[in-house]
Amino acid sequence: MPETTGEKAYETREFQAEVKQVLDIVVNSLYTDREIFLRELISNAADALEKLRYESLTKKEVQDQELPLEITIELDDQEHTLTITDTGIGMTRDELIENLGTIAHSGSKTLIQQLADAGRKDLSLIGQFGVGFYAAFMVARKIRVLSKSYQIDAAGYEWTSDGIGSYTIGPAEGLTRGTKIILELKDDAHEFTAIDNIKRIIRQYSSFVPFTITVNGDKVNTIQAIWTRNKNEISEEEYNEFYKFIANTYDEPFYRLHFSTDAPLAINALLFVPMQNFERYGFGRMEPGVNLYCRKVLIQQQAESILPEWLRFVKGVVDSEDIPLNISRETMQDSALVARLRRAITGRFLKFLNEQARTSPDRYAEFWQTFGIFIKEGLTSDFTHRDELAKLLRFESSATEPGKLTSLAEYAERMPEGQKEIYFINGPTREIIEAGPYLEAFRARTLEVIYTHEPVDDFVLSNLMEYEQKKLVSVDQAELELPSLEDSPGEEPLDSETVNSLAGWLKETLGDKVSEVKESGRLVDSPAVLLNQDSIMTSSMQRVMQAVNKDMGAVGKKTLEINTRHALIKRLAVLREKDADFAKIVVEQIYDNALISAGLLADPRGIVDRMYQILERAVS
Ligand code: ADP
Ligand code: MG
Repeated sequence: MPETTGEKAYETREFQAEVKQVLDIVVNSLYTDREIFLRELISNAADALEKLRYESLTKKEVQDQELPLEITIELDDQEHTLTITDTGIGMTRDELIENLGTIAHSGSKTLIQQLADAGRKDLSLIGQFGVGFYAAFMVARKIRVLSKSYQIDAAGYEWTSDGIGSYTIGPAEGLTRGTKIILELKDDAHEFTAIDNIKRIIRQYSSFVPFTITVNGDKVNTIQAIWTRNKNEISEEEYNEFYKFIANTYDEPFYRLHFSTDAPLAINALLFVPMQNFERYGFGRMEPGVNLYCRKVLIQQQAESILPEWLRFVKGVVDSEDIPLNISRETMQDSALVARLRRAITGRFLKFLNEQARTSPDRYAEFWQTFGIFIKEGLTSDFTHRDELAKLLRFESSATEPGKLTSLAEYAERMPEGQKEIYFINGPTREIIEAGPYLEAFRARTLEVIYTHEPVDDFVLSNLMEYEQKKLVSVDQAELELPSLEDSPGEEPLDSETVNSLAGWLKETLGDKVSEVKESGRLVDSPAVLLNQDSIMTSSMQRVMQAVNKDMGAVGKKTLEINTRHALIKRLAVLREKDADFAKIVVEQIYDNALISAGLLADPRGIVDRMYQILERAVS
């Protein structure tokens, strides 16, 4: 039975009070990005088409079955109208009244309060809470909505309003299924009849709407929502084209991850790692690169909260049906749902990286060179994923060939029985590390040491503290339990009495520079070494501090360990008795040499003077 028009003919109705408030703000305020009204209308049209698609899949019959599912925009620069038509689900009379005359959303009270409070009339607020339609009143002095529901017996209706106080509703003849919205543009909004302008806006906000959009007969959105398609049906080239489009670049992606899940959340994601890390070249901090969609409708470009900050180098699309279409930037940040999405996507992405590292380690090493810094940033700033992140770390080590990298897992596998800790040392290059005194004890015991080269590495490893219950230890630390050596290397050591008195005298001579002097259990070739008593304040951390403050001396408590088998130390014990003054000069020099080996700044003036005095002795 068709609906009777009768007494329900033309009727003027008041908007609900809350709608009036919203409209008052929309109509009487000037907005800078008014163009988002089009996104709202297209997203409503796309929604209506999605619903129709669903209905025609689940019901036997819908009205005007043969109509193609599409969105048509007509611009008339003579009449100054913009008309947007969809062949979607349409609205009945009651639905027009309900949907366009009231705000059903429970958040509307908050919204209106926020709008009233926001002196600056923040537009992102308008898009919230299901009031996107009213955004059209920013550009239109009058809006006509002609709609016919998909239901077989539905009739057509016209809804008209100038956005002030009331609207009229009445029957309309000759409509087909769907909704036609005619905007009579305000005098200052005539730019919205310019075809190129409208096409640009559509490309910006709605390129991936999965229904054809035409503007004055031209099809605009050629790019499909490829992330929703089956992986097997998408060619390499299509993927790359899509990447270029969203990343606004000309090169190809380095990595690609396309996945979808249904539980616990419905996610469809297509993520790319670019070729370059522009932050490395000093281009400043990258913006987040992932766009958030809900059923192919763009919700937020460069969404901030959908991935953690340290994944800001990732480009792509996340589409989740679970995200409400009108979620705002503010709401995104503290939404529990978004946090769950973020955790799920990040976890999946890290799993992907670990797979890549396992299956193509060389290519992963390239990734590591370029983007490793972000993984390190993640490790120091985000505890949620630290286990997965730790697996991704790569370093050189005493067991790798120069230039080759190893993971903590591989290191752990190589650990001999009895070794409980993972050792690392920081130094600018492999050569410098290997020439220094710190490695000697480990080399003698064939214990592997990880070489870190970036100043940030010690911070990362100290922060991580352990890997699979194995403590991460910097080898310039004083408190180290090393297995004793079976066969002691070379010379006999000094007797313990001499050692004690020598150590006491050294401490006295060096004063506050060291907090302790003791016999070394670890040195082999070097006479002495400086070790840190504070496990966090490694030498590399001190170097970072010295780089900031050049006048700063060595920081943190230090132990000077002496090699009591070394000829220099042995002779020093004798020299000290015969020529205490000269012995002191030698001690100062030993200390400065140890500082240099630690990569810490020593006062060069002192060194040069002293060297001359020592040389003078040597040549006489
Ligand atoms: P939201 O889309 O968030 O619900 P809007 O203010 O954009 O809020 O739209 C309000 C409601 O009006 C929609 O939920 C929908 O029911 C209805 N509507 C708007 N545009 C259309 C359309 N083109 N076809 C069918 N229904 C529509
Ligand atoms: Mg909407």
